[in-house]
Amino acid sequence: MSPLLESYAAGRWFRAADDGEPLLDAATGEEVARFSGRGPDIAAMVRHARETGGPALRALTFHERAALLKALAKHLTARKEELYALSVRTGATSRDTMVDVDGGIGTLFSYASKGVRELPNDTVVLDGGLERLGKGGTFVGQHLYTSRPGVAVQINAFNFPVWGMLEKLAPAFLAGLPSIVKPAAQTAYLAELAVRQIIESGILPEGTLQLLAGGPAGLLDELTVQDSVAFTGSAHTAGILRRHPNVLDGGVRLGVEADSLNCSVLGPDVRPGDPEFDLFVKGVVTEMTVKAGQKCTAIRRVLVPGPMAGTVIDALAARLAKVSVGDPRNPDVRMGALASLGQRDEVRKAVDALRATAEVAFGDPAGAALLDGDAERGAFMTPLLLRARPGATEPHDVEPFGPVSTVLTYDGLDEAIALAARGKGSLAASVVTHDPEVARTVVRGLAPWHGRVLVLDRDDAGESTGHGSPLPVLVHGGPGRAGGGEELGGVRAVLHHMQRSAVQASPDLLTAVTGRWTAGAARTEPDVHPFRRSLAELRIGDTIASAPRTVTLEDIGHFAEFTGDTFYAHTDAEAAARNPLFGGIVAHGYLVVSLAAGLFVDPAPGPVLANFGVDALRFLTPVKAGDAIAVTLTVKQITPRSGADYGEVRWDAVVTNQDGAPVATYDVLTLVAKTWPAESA
Ligand code: NDP
Repeated sequence: MSPLLESYAAGRWFRAADDGEPLLDAATGEEVARFSGRGPDIAAMVRHARETGGPALRALTFHERAALLKALAKHLTARKEELYALSVRTGATSRDTMVDVDGGIGTLFSYASKGVRELPNDTVVLDGGLERLGKGGTFVGQHLYTSRPGVAVQINAFNFPVWGMLEKLAPAFLAGLPSIVKPAAQTAYLAELAVRQIIESGILPEGTLQLLAGGPAGLLDELTVQDSVAFTGSAHTAGILRRHPNVLDGGVRLGVEADSLNCSVLGPDVRPGDPEFDLFVKGVVTEMTVKAGQKCTAIRRVLVPGPMAGTVIDALAARLAKVSVGDPRNPDVRMGALASLGQRDEVRKAVDALRATAEVAFGDPAGAALLDGDAERGAFMTPLLLRARPGATEPHDVEPFGPVSTVLTYDGLDEAIALAARGKGSLAASVVTHDPEVARTVVRGLAPWHGRVLVLDRDDAGESTGHGSPLPVLVHGGPGRAGGGEELGGVRAVLHHMQRSAVQASPDLLTAVTGRWTAGAARTEPDVHPFRRSLAELRIGDTIASAPRTVTLEDIGHFAEFTGDTFYAHTDAEAAARNPLFGGIVAHGYLVVSLAAGLFVDPAPGPVLANFGVDALRFLTPVKAGDAIAVTLTVKQITPRSGADYGEVRWDAVVTNQDGAPVATYDVLTLVAKTWPAESA
């Protein structure tokens, strides 16, 4: 008997007392593993996540969490052959496995990198700028994201057991939430192997990842207001979860990614022989056959201009005829099996429903013509292309979760957009066109109904990742029928898991809360220039207030000649006098900023290593010859970089004139050594 899958629950591997049910190889029908619906104590798992995993995770900064994700991605990369070998048993070809295994690991790498580059080395995220709430500047507001002291329950579909798990785990982990993963039973053996590899690595703090290799009963019963559920699967199950009392009345957040009748639109500008025609045909065939069409983003509806239907169908049929279907262990096979015989039955049922208003344009609904002779026990199905009759409703309602697409015709872009919208909200759409007006009209029409829209043409095709690939940096999810949830999208997905609050306070106390100096908060002028202080010595609020410097007409003329910026407002007194904003010669903004640098700098070698940019530069009051400017530079934020002997210091810079009016405000970004003299020196 094959091994019974185990759950990783409350710090140990749990094995059910019964023998479970067999999980079969999708292509050969042999038993791969056994799965018991009797899982571990879910209440204990939730407690473990809350009491052990969550606190350990939230003690780490975003950068530390990101470093763990990166280490994990490297660890899984070194072990992916083992995952590949097991993945074939799900019916996946090596191309499908790349999407699942490499795609999942790539998502970890992407979040590791985003976490360091786009999140602070802190445990809270500031959202937007400071809001001044009173005239005197003593009462200010700031939006702030904090981690919830809860649990992220992730219920995954059968089709991508590795990617589906890691794409949910990575943003939740960065957000400080421990995860309980519930894989779909059919392919749970692959998810279990990936979790074993993760747990064995010891990289993730205990309690931050638990696996429920068991039935879902009671999974939501223990959840409360700080917890969330991210679900991928059928609209039917989504409906059950939506009606759970803890979701309806208990404040549990539910994100759903369910059925999606994605479409691809062939632009009316495209003719046979155009590069876009081939791209369209290739795209549809790829989406029908990758993972045997068991992809939430696959193209189910093929929208073409009426007169092009015959030509498109011929081209699709010619290409589909070359797709060899069979056991994915055979290197000649291009399309493997569906995940299970049960899943194939579901697809056949959907095809029967579609055929009420559609003809078969290519393929055999009975699924003959396999490459391998012995296909009796495998969940094989050959690609099937249907052509809908005018007015058909089924293609917009029935999702065949397999290698099946339906061609529909449109007359004019308005109808194409209206047909796309009849899917009632989808994950992804594509429009294949080289016409800017078609691209603009179709994208603006489709976007409210879709989470992602690809515009494909000859220029981006070489680098395009295709219609069906969710990317970690782009939003994955869709409105309406697609579930209304949003996953991925870079840091957006991290913030989805966190709580945004508006904090109102005085500048001093807001500085204390956020760890970032707030305009109006106390400043300290240390007895040494702050540029002489290492990262270890610098404090938020350390300030240098410069002496004033008078800007002369010669300064402005010199800067104009030296840089070549001889714009009339700096060089031509008569023309400048007619400028409604200046009324005479003014200093270049960049001259003001350059002079300010000269005023605040401490030039000798010291802990400040480099200036790597400015943020939010605004020129507020024109500077004229004779004006005296001064600058105040204040340490706003200190971010040590892990793994480097320096960190980032963000300085608040305010340049004022002799009347105290601000002429320029910005943040100066520098790299400062952690110790000085450097320890190595
Ligand atoms: P299901 O909705 O049946 O299962 C999805 C996940 O939900 C599985 O992990 C399943 O566990 C779990 N689950 C089932 N019932 C409950 C419950 N009452 N409470 C909590 N969790 C539950 O979908 P399938 O994976 O079986 O796929 C069926 C159809 O869903 C496909 O044919 C396709 O139409 C659609 N689908 C859509 C996807 C998308 O992203 N748009 C992706 C995959 C599927 P268990 O396996 O143990 O039952």
